[in-house]
Amino acid sequence: MPTDLVPSAPIRMLDLAAQHAPLQPALDEALSTVLREAEFINGPAVAAFAQELSATLGGPHVIPCANGTDALQLALMSLDLPPGAEIILPAFTYVATAEAAAVLGLRPVFVDVMPTTFCLDPAAVEAAVTPRTGAILAVHLFGQCADLEALKQITTRQAIPLIEDNAQAVGATYRFADGQQAYAGTVGEVGTTSFFPAKNLGAFGDGGALFTRDANRAAYLRQLANHGQTRKYHHQHIGLNSRLDTVQAALLRVKLPHLPAWTAIRQRIADYYDAALEGISGLRVPHRDANSSHVFHQYTLTLEKAPQRDQLQEYLGQRGVPSMVYYPVPVHMQPAYAYLGYPAGQFPVAEQLCRTVLSLPIHPMLTEAQQDYIITTIRAFFALTRSAA
Ligand SMILES: *Cc1c(COP(=O)(O)O)cnc(C)c1O
Repeated sequence: MPTDLVPSAPIRMLDLAAQHAPLQPALDEALSTVLREAEFINGPAVAAFAQELSATLGGPHVIPCANGTDALQLALMSLDLPPGAEIILPAFTYVATAEAAAVLGLRPVFVDVMPTTFCLDPAAVEAAVTPRTGAILAVHLFGQCADLEALKQITTRQAIPLIEDNAQAVGATYRFADGQQAYAGTVGEVGTTSFFPAKNLGAFGDGGALFTRDANRAAYLRQLANHGQTRKYHHQHIGLNSRLDTVQAALLRVKLPHLPAWTAIRQRIADYYDAALEGISGLRVPHRDANSSHVFHQYTLTLEKAPQRDQLQEYLGQRGVPSMVYYPVPVHMQPAYAYLGYPAGQFPVAEQLCRTVLSLPIHPMLTEAQQDYIITTIRAFFALTRSAA
């Protein structure tokens, strides 16, 4: 490869330091205000951030909490399900989705995902519904909405609550057949999100939030996230200690106004990858659902042949291009979930994705020169493998 193509700055999966650099004065100011005011729990920045986030997502109630996993747990707690109730969720997701159900003594019921969007397969969801089903927990994986049209039809018809794990798709929108548009996370009974630093809207530590359109549920969730208390030292419910720190809320308020611009950059980077990589035989660029926008938390390729995924990752790594496998093992095949008794082979799409997906760097600080280098390196890999065949 010509050395003049090698970018001068190292390529990273994520570059938070560079992303935050222009915001440093505002972040410093926000942080020193919190330190000076010393209202570290439920300080004024928490409610202000919740209100501002609500305004950017079409006005749902926003209940901040400690992290995205707690948000899922609180969402399920708010349903008051009997022990052992079944929670239908995708086999291809981050483990937290299943964990939240399992720690509550609820039963994760895995179903397979669509090979296109990597999100819940509605037909498989429908087939998994039983009289014990307590909720359907959809994940908007990698930044694109699950098939909310089909899922909403199932949950409405069967009177089952829909929970949306929106940790990866904050700001994505979905268009229903009747023309209605909604933000991801605001369609189901409860939506959840995460402000883990690497997420599209990341804090400086852990953070999370819940969304609901129901004022009563919002009040209940607020109580559940704060020891189940209705007023200080009066505990109506068994809750959690799960609050968003004032420090995190204050810093998130600085970042939130930049989210649309950062999302637009992610989308532009994705378009550029698409244009350059589409048509390479043996490689599939991310599918785009016509009804959902895509906020590209990840830009995830699918390789046709499993061994090529690992070969490509190694080839890229040797040439200074980081990449990641989200996720190498489906949740039903994790040792912690073996007790549920799902055999290997039960969810062929999820299992095949774990062998064939590869996520490329996509973040607001990725330069065009870096992207050109990544693309050239991928093209070189496929030119090599073709001539070797
Ligand atoms: C990050 C993530 C979570 C968990 O969020 P935390 O804030 O890390 O607890 C849950 N679900 C999905 C799909 C995620 O990507």
